[in-house]
Amino acid sequence: MTDGTDLTHLRRCVELAAEALAAGDQPFGSVLVGADGVVLAEDRNRVGGGDHTQHPEFALARWAAAHLPPDARRAATVYTSSEHCTMCAAAHGWVGLGRISYASSSEQLLGWLDELGADRPPLTILPVQQVVPGIAVEGPAPELTEEIHGLFRRMMRAG
Ligand code: ZN
Repeated sequence: MTDGTDLTHLRRCVELAAEALAAGDQPFGSVLVGADGVVLAEDRNRVGGGDHTQHPEFALARWAAAHLPPDARRAATVYTSSEHCTMCAAAHGWVGLGRISYASSSEQLLGWLDELGADRPPLTILPVQQVVPGIAVEGPAPELTEEIHGLFRRMMRAG
């Protein structure tokens, strides 16, 4: 269930996604929250320079590996504006992070990219549960669907 606290963190992810788009990157943002509910780290997409591995979920997995012991990683939640791609899901699994809560699903994202005539990612995009067996995953959050869809429409208009 996406509850009020989840929605607050997911809204921050969407803000970060909007910041990324405004900076010439792609509209994705993520927040890492500890078991006590404290925001530990946040990041946004940074692929504008040409490195397409600069996804926020990957950055947060690396941050967690550097800063959190394994039990704290397992107890943490990663909130993200769009469901982890296959690369980021793998990083999440390798680092041993806990629950994922996403605002929009990969299925929604691929539908929007097709609708807008954008290139699909050069990966087979799988649901996170297929990449990381046993992971707790929640989403999408319908409250945020139109806002995120709007960010991708703006991305395409910006070229
Ligand atoms: Zn990714």
